[in-house]
Amino acid sequence: MRHLIAGNWKMNGLAAGIEEAAAVAEGLKGLEGQVDGMICPPATLIAQMRWKTAKSPLLIGGQDCHPKASGAHTGDISAEMLKDAGATAVILGHCERRTNCGEVDTTVRAKAEAARRAGLTAIVCIGETESERDAGQTLAVVGRQLAGSVPDGPPTDIVIAYEPVWAIGTGRTPSLGDIAEVHAHIRKALEARFGPAGRDVRILYGGSMKPDNAAAILKIADVNGGLVGGASLKSADFLAILRAAAGA
Ligand code: PEP
Repeated sequence: MRHLIAGNWKMNGLAAGIEEAAAVAEGLKGLEGQVDGMICPPATLIAQMRWKTAKSPLLIGGQDCHPKASGAHTGDISAEMLKDAGATAVILGHCERRTNCGEVDTTVRAKAEAARRAGLTAIVCIGETESERDAGQTLAVVGRQLAGSVPDGPPTDIVIAYEPVWAIGTGRTPSLGDIAEVHAHIRKALEARFGPAGRDVRILYGGSMKPDNAAAILKIADVNGGLVGGASLKSADFLAILRAAAGA
């Protein structure tokens, strides 16, 4: 399975930042067919980024969507609007939204259903907190989030991002063995639920992925790419990770 490397810009980026995406788009041309590259900028930049990188293989994604297609939801954005602006995917259930906005598994599932309705790939984030890991609950937590956040039906438009909460933005990562254990557990759960189709669902690793650790992480079985926060903001770093993925 080809790796997908998705950059999560979070609440970073003004119009001038589009140049970083343009540099990634240019570099990605030389890696076409070897890796899929995506940037998920703030919603304000999606359309502009799409136009600026239109002649490249760079994919564009959103960072959240509302479950409804339209209506009286001030400040929200629907999956249809993301699609209309040029996105092909949307990150859902990121731990910052689970923590800061009170999103729970049922919220994430409703949003993933909305993404499907609009024809977007849903990148569904799951992962344990540090205290859950210390209590030996990692596999149980991840299994529960997976079961509750992913909609029924063929998972052809679903990507899972395993993101240990304690590894996000901290410079800390689990050991390669620990990543392998969780990804194998997620794969088993996907196959148990979806049959052979569960084998084709990409499982990304996220949490302090950088140019210097990407190659080792991306070589692990059942790691099918990465969700990258901080290191996606500079084109040189992000391209280094894309190159590592192309060679993994
Ligand atoms: C993220 O926020 O999804 C993430 C993985 O961040 P970072 O790479 O900065 O840890």
